[in-house]
Amino acid sequence: VNLHRFSEIAPLATDLPELVAHSRDLWPRSTLQLAQGNLPPLPLGVLSPDKPDQVQALLKLASEEGIPLIPYGAGSGVCGAAAGSSSALTLNLKRLDRILEVKPGQVRVQPGVLGQHLEDALEKTGQATRHSPSSIWCSTVGGWAASRSAGQFSSRYGKFEDMVLGMKVITPSGEYWTGEWNRGEEELHPWFLGTEGALGVITELLVRTVPLPEDRVLRGYRFSEVPQAWNAMRQLMQAGLRPMALRLYDPVDTRLAGKDTVEKPNHARRERWKALAERLGVTGKAALQLPLALPRLANALAEGIAAGCVLITGFEGSKEEVSKAAEQGHQLILACGGGDMGTGPGEHWYQTRHHVSYKLSPLFGADAFADTMEVACTWSRLPDLYREVRAAIRNHAIVMAHFSHAYAEGCSIYFSFAGRGSVETYDALWKDALAAAARAGATVAHHHGVGQLKMQAAAQELAAIAPLYHALKARLDPAGIMNPGRLFPTAEGAAFIPDEPGLDSLSRIATLPAWQPPQERDAWLAKRGYRLKHPTSTPLAQSIRQPVPAWDCQVLGCTARIAGKAARLPTVPRSSAGPDLRVWLPSNDYISLSVPVEPL
Ligand SMILES: Cc1cc2nc3c(=O)[nH]c(=O)nc-3n(C[C@H](O)[C@H](O)[C@H](O)COP(=O)(O)OP(=O)(O)OC[C@H]3O[C@@H](n4cnc5c(N)ncnc54)[C@H](O)[C@@H]3O)c2cc1C
Repeated sequence: VNLHRFSEIAPLATDLPELVAHSRDLWPRSTLQLAQGNLPPLPLGVLSPDKPDQVQALLKLASEEGIPLIPYGAGSGVCGAAAGSSSALTLNLKRLDRILEVKPGQVRVQPGVLGQHLEDALEKTGQATRHSPSSIWCSTVGGWAASRSAGQFSSRYGKFEDMVLGMKVITPSGEYWTGEWNRGEEELHPWFLGTEGALGVITELLVRTVPLPEDRVLRGYRFSEVPQAWNAMRQLMQAGLRPMALRLYDPVDTRLAGKDTVEKPNHARRERWKALAERLGVTGKAALQLPLALPRLANALAEGIAAGCVLITGFEGSKEEVSKAAEQGHQLILACGGGDMGTGPGEHWYQTRHHVSYKLSPLFGADAFADTMEVACTWSRLPDLYREVRAAIRNHAIVMAHFSHAYAEGCSIYFSFAGRGSVETYDALWKDALAAAARAGATVAHHHGVGQLKMQAAAQELAAIAPLYHALKARLDPAGIMNPGRLFPTAEGAAFIPDEPGLDSLSRIATLPAWQPPQERDAWLAKRGYRLKHPTSTPLAQSIRQPVPAWDCQVLGCTARIAGKAARLPTVPRSSAGPDLRVWLPSNDYISLSVPVEPL
């Protein structure tokens, strides 16, 4: 391959440290392989443009030469989306790192800016995005948009896709402006959000900002049973209180991570792991390896010493708003059976919220792995999802979970697990866990995206849109050079079962014929004691693109005629399993829509 022409456009590195650094993202499978001595495939080279014009020229040349390009933000993805290939060049975007313009309510920014740098710069102007993923120190704005990231405060501010007002995207076949920047051309906004660099490179973004919160109140509550705490979370979200934090730790997470102690959670956590190891009769390196080698036993023991769970709440905004919402939330939680633990647990979580697993090397070095899985579903499906996925994982690894990213209609579950063994064990765990999530009616990705890990599972979940995606890919990237292999391989989708009209009152979702006359529809709902959350006097299919608050779910799912076939997009609150087309299909194509409702 003649790389000379590429290096005339932008700096090209071919030295080993650069190639190794850009050969993979933080997918634990590749960390496990590396720990076992298997270096991932090294890219042909690493291109580092610092101007959008260079990106454009590189895409043109790569198309001519037939050399694939893999966009690379900060490589913090955990599913292998930015992993290198020995026949591709990696396109490092970190030098496109300018904050171009800050105005009240919005910032114009290049994609390579690191999250924390953006928040630091905005803070000086009294603003913030309040997008706060645990990876804020090591992820970029472009990566957030390309994989539909969610921050810890999403219950109040929405996911990152809700904050992106406009984008400039360079594809091999031309430049596109989206959202508020759209100039009357085809609107590809929803496609570029969540397509993981497989259609083009995001070179500029317009992002919503909010004033820095004036006040914040955090608290912890103890519950004896998980369902009691789910009830409190659901009621809080359905009451429209919009907490910035709402996180429930299941009994094992509460116990082993020391969440139930206000004083010194880290010390408590160490003591509990020690106690568990002693019960298993193991010490030293074996204290790590043996429990992981016997996951069912270790899970049973962990569950045996676990009792009760802890819910963290946080409210922020203006002083007046916070005092009102925090008090209302506090009373609601007490009424649901929560025991007040005071401000300690919430404050501790807030102070340490980015201290995530940067110290996992010893675990991988001990022939073990740790990983996380984030899935989401409606409130009515949550108990099944929790039970089924835990049951699938606990055969292979020690598992705990927390519930965060709550919505009025549902919630995400974040499973954390650690296991011992080979890549085969790792793969078997994921196969079982993803199948369990799909069976329970969840989305297989709430905010980590798809990558290689969830490629088949996401393709099944969104089989309906795969033909549209492949047609668009062929048009925007005819030479197929953008992040090849992503996003949907040609997997068969699950059999099409149309949604029956009906009401899920727990999740406050109604599934309604898309063209039902408004009076008939409203009377049907009123008879059951409900009304549309976003009222409209036209059939739903004609009104779903009305503006709603960004944190709100406008459409939860739909059946439609897609590419000439009746197809279904699953009913979930939010997802990152590829692009979200639920409100973007042509009106005439909708058959039924699942939309939020509220009691009369
Ligand atoms: C410790 C840790 C904690 C995490 N916590 C969270 C969390 O709280 N919330 C969350 O959402 N995620 C979290 N993640 C996952 C990860 O940080 C996110 O997926 C993040 O959005 C990835 O950003 P990045 O810049 O590192 O992208 P990369 O990993 O470099 O790339 C991700 C994908 O986006 C594509 N891409 C990157 N930039 C562009 C661009 N400009 N144009 C087109 N395509 C592009 C890449 O090709 C790839 O497909 C965590 C990861 C780690 C390691």
